[in-house]
Amino acid sequence: MGASIELTAVTDTVHFVQTDLVNWTLVTDGNGVLVIDAGYPGQRGDVVESVRRLGFQMQDVRAFLLTHAHVDHFGSAIGFAKTLGTPVYTHAAEVGHAKREYLEQVAPIDLVTRIWQPRYLAWTAAIIGKGALTREGIPGTQALGEDIAATLPGTPTAIPTPGHTGGHCSYLVDGVLVSGDALVTGHPLSSRRGPQLLPGLFNHDQQSCLRSLDALGMLDTEVVLPGHGPVWRGPVRDAVRQAAR
Ligand SMILES: [Zn+2]
Repeated sequence: MGASIELTAVTDTVHFVQTDLVNWTLVTDGNGVLVIDAGYPGQRGDVVESVRRLGFQMQDVRAFLLTHAHVDHFGSAIGFAKTLGTPVYTHAAEVGHAKREYLEQVAPIDLVTRIWQPRYLAWTAAIIGKGALTREGIPGTQALGEDIAATLPGTPTAIPTPGHTGGHCSYLVDGVLVSGDALVTGHPLSSRRGPQLLPGLFNHDQQSCLRSLDALGMLDTEVVLPGHGPVWRGPVRDAVRQAAR
């Protein structure tokens, strides 16, 4: 099944992995790999394959850094944390979510009322096949402090972007913005292409989403790697303007 990922070198050290369902980002240095977001639990093999294509093994993964703790972004990290002891970091405000002390994710019942729409039906079936219904958390999740960030490949800078979840956080690495679900460029459930917010159903706090979008618009970067959809190249403020429409 390894052919379902699309791997793009964005800079010398930043590599973007796109799949039909969700994306993740690999950041390398001489000593290993930082994986930003982790796909669904059932995308474990795709994560291994993406790391392998850069010439590394999972043992070389120094940490998973999560934009947020939804199952499509932290899924494979559940198993890797357990079996390999790979450290998992989030924004301090997202740690409890990653531990599943609470859940800020759309309930299956809210989706069921929409699956008469073919797009929702196909997507719901696909994500359930990838382990979307798991309730498991990552008990060892830690907050990303600046001291820890300084030791990770790409020395990621946290750009807090709450809204999609209460502790959602974007990251700057090597001049590239990894925006998670604060700013996406497509989604299996959206007929729209280009920069956008996710359907409101998926957002914990829509007003915060809009404020976080404004915050991203202040950045200087010209490359955005979203949680869903293709790479965006161009001033981030242009992407934000399109998404706000
Ligand atoms: Zn997502």
